[in-house]
Amino acid sequence: MKGKSIAVIGGGASGICAALEAKYNDSSINVTVFERLPKTAKKILATGNGRCNFTNENLSPKHFHGDPLFLRKILTSSYADTENYFRSLGVLSYHEDGRIYPRSQQAASIREALTDKLNKYGITIKTDTPVNSIDKFKNGFTVNGEYFDVVIVAGGGKASSVQGSDGSCYKLLEHLGHTKTPLYPALCGLSTNEKGLNMLKGVRAECKASLFSESHLLGEESGEVQFTDKAVSGIPVMNLSHLCKDKKDLCLNLDLCEDISEAELSEHINNIKRNSPDKELETVLSGIVNSKLGFAVMNKENIKPRTKIGQVTQRELSAICDILKSFHISISGTKGFDSAQITCGGIKTHEVNPETMMSEIVNGLFICGEILDIHGDCGGYNLHLAWTTGRIAGNGAYEYLNK
Ligand SMILES: Cc1cc2nc3c(=O)[nH]c(=O)nc-3n(C[C@H](O)[C@H](O)[C@H](O)COP(=O)(O)OP(=O)(O)OC[C@H]3O[C@@H](n4cnc5c(N)ncnc54)[C@H](O)[C@@H]3O)c2cc1C
Repeated sequence: MKGKSIAVIGGGASGICAALEAKYNDSSINVTVFERLPKTAKKILATGNGRCNFTNENLSPKHFHGDPLFLRKILTSSYADTENYFRSLGVLSYHEDGRIYPRSQQAASIREALTDKLNKYGITIKTDTPVNSIDKFKNGFTVNGEYFDVVIVAGGGKASSVQGSDGSCYKLLEHLGHTKTPLYPALCGLSTNEKGLNMLKGVRAECKASLFSESHLLGEESGEVQFTDKAVSGIPVMNLSHLCKDKKDLCLNLDLCEDISEAELSEHINNIKRNSPDKELETVLSGIVNSKLGFAVMNKENIKPRTKIGQVTQRELSAICDILKSFHISISGTKGFDSAQITCGGIKTHEVNPETMMSEIVNGLFICGEILDIHGDCGGYNLHLAWTTGRIAGNGAYEYLNK
């Protein structure tokens, strides 16, 4: 191969951006993307429920997790820069509660814009080509035995392996001297073995979810909680899932009436008791929460649904108010990597220069995207990290080759 060459391992969000950025800077560089799947960017199609929530208006540091100094150094651009980047590729955007999607509301728009540009730039794409070896020589590398001046590893984490990221790139980097923090599935549902919760399958409810381990509060998030088969999910729960890492005796407490104080709730129910003592408890609760949740609340207190409110004791009423404000669910763990959207943990960030994404261990090796020990909340933050670190890596690789 004549001229300078870059191998990009992984044709996902960060790898494609890295490849495009390097080629944009210098069209004479030969850029080759290695992708183990038959197509590039498969995962992008699955993002945002097929709509691709690609960034967020609120890029406050509280939505990103990892070494704060490293994050501060990479997160220097605004959401508008990301929007403008996609606009320059022909994709207009659409804002919904701060989340930013392609205006078409189709993830395929983002994927097609990126792959179209890869083709236009004449970047070599090797699909169905898993990279099994990267070896460093004095002035370059071999990737599956083929020589390159620079390597950018953008192979993602190990969440949702059907979308391509099977965790194989951690080993490639370990072989080159890098180390990783323990890996954990995140942005996923939480499993429960609690009996009696199966009746809630399919229920969605606005709640404040508080996650505890051994009675210590780990975090709180509000939003729509979803009950699924032996699990609890929804954005607030997914955002809490990374906090389960290495924790014991986990439980979720759901405030099913975040907008009503316990005193107001008690007053409301006691008014009904006074004015309509013949009203059945299930009818009283169905005026407050989803009827299935009402059943689950009564179940926890062992009260029959058809009991007349006038016959419910004050102690029982106060217990019902307590449960509505703090519905306890014991948690056995996360739903695991296959149903997780991201991997928490990864290649240690102190081994990577945040200004270029070049390895501090191996010259000419760049690392970007989810494979690093950084992650974001649900809301476009992980793709934002992928595009941003990918572009820094592509730029860094170009500068390294032109030193
Ligand atoms: C269902 C789902 C929905 C999501 N929705 C959103 C969302 O709406 N907004 C958001 O911000 N984030 C979302 N995410 C997270 C986001 O998609 C990822 O954080 C992001 O794609 C990571 O980009 P990446 O390029 O680092 O890795 P990936 O996108 O995983 O790309 C890595 C690529 O490398 C390839 N690869 C891996 N190993 C090798 C190898 N050895 N050789 C060759 N190729 C290899 C893989 O096949 C893959 O194509 C979602 C994730 C999932 C699973």
